[in-house]
Amino acid sequence: MKSKPKFETLAIESTKNEFLNAQPISTPIYLSSTYKRNNDGTYNNNFVYSRTDNPNRKILEKSIASLENGKFAFAFASGMAAVHATIQSLKANSHILLPDDIYFAIRKLVDEVFKDWNLTYDLVDMTNLQAVEKAVKSNTSLIWVESPSNPQLKISDIEAISKIAKKHNILYAVDNTWATPVFQNPLELGADIVVHSTTKYFGGHSDVLGGCVVVNDENIAQKIKAIQSLSGAVPSPFDCWLISRGIQTLPLRVHKQTENALKLAQYLETHPKIEQVLYPGLESFPQHKLAKKQQKNGFGAMLSVLIKASKEETVLISTKLNYFTTATSLGGVESLVEHRKSVEGETSPTPDNLLRISVGIEHIDDLIADWEQALS
Ligand SMILES: *Cc1c(COP(=O)(O)O)cnc(C)c1O
Repeated sequence: MKSKPKFETLAIESTKNEFLNAQPISTPIYLSSTYKRNNDGTYNNNFVYSRTDNPNRKILEKSIASLENGKFAFAFASGMAAVHATIQSLKANSHILLPDDIYFAIRKLVDEVFKDWNLTYDLVDMTNLQAVEKAVKSNTSLIWVESPSNPQLKISDIEAISKIAKKHNILYAVDNTWATPVFQNPLELGADIVVHSTTKYFGGHSDVLGGCVVVNDENIAQKIKAIQSLSGAVPSPFDCWLISRGIQTLPLRVHKQTENALKLAQYLETHPKIEQVLYPGLESFPQHKLAKKQQKNGFGAMLSVLIKASKEETVLISTKLNYFTTATSLGGVESLVEHRKSVEGETSPTPDNLLRISVGIEHIDDLIADWEQALS
């Protein structure tokens, strides 16, 4: 029997959710950190405590697993948390192979965070299969590939590298952030692990950070799940909701952005002030054929341009653009431009005259006219 509640109790009782069986079309954001236990000790859907699992994360993870054709997906609070979890799942004293133009924060991660864990690495040109094979050591336990790469758009042969990894019994991870599952499913090309920064195209609106790890193997899945729920770098229910919402329009946005990127690349390639356009969709791109074979129906919406200019003039040109905002990151609906070298630092192999472009969904005529005026 319930006693008649006093005011303080009423303040709690009167606000409890009485609409649990409502049927909203848009998924509610389950802010609850904890879930009610049934009288028999069980929990509905195994939701116990939000760090371990919650409805918004579960929905997001199921969605990403299905898009990547994988069995298990694990969502993290950022792309870097997903990368960190992958490396942390390795044994101590491991040696790993990283692309020589890897996303620069990952290199910083192994240099600064894993340095005391005796993790060693070699930087390899992943477009050179012989170099990959040659770099393998007896304690190599992970090969990491990013294709297209950041910011030079280098294309690595994901399937061919998977054969090297299998031959030497090495775990093989592909960062699929730039290609997105719209164009590329690395698990189908032999990868063991797919990593994404969902901050980029999945979220798609530059308003949320997130990452994920997708795998097929149950043992790897268990390790990643343990790191996710026990280390706790988990995305909030609202973060998961935003990324799930972004996914609904992922193919529409990415196809439009890619269509714009190809047209912009074709225009820039003809401009006398441009030294080179790095875009896998251009026939002049050295690995155009491989990109065409590997990336189903699309080359992505990222490109870089080398300008016939000094570092200072290159930076100046980026500031003259009106529809391309000078900012880091990528994959949002708005176009962005960035002088990568000054972000990555002096030790970076990125050329001084390179601008990286994330193409948005604006009208292509405006985007081209904007470059025309900035370059004149
Ligand atoms: C942005 C990015 C990351 C890191 O993701 P965050 O969400 O910023 O932590 C990793 N890899 C690639 C290719 C990226 O573009």
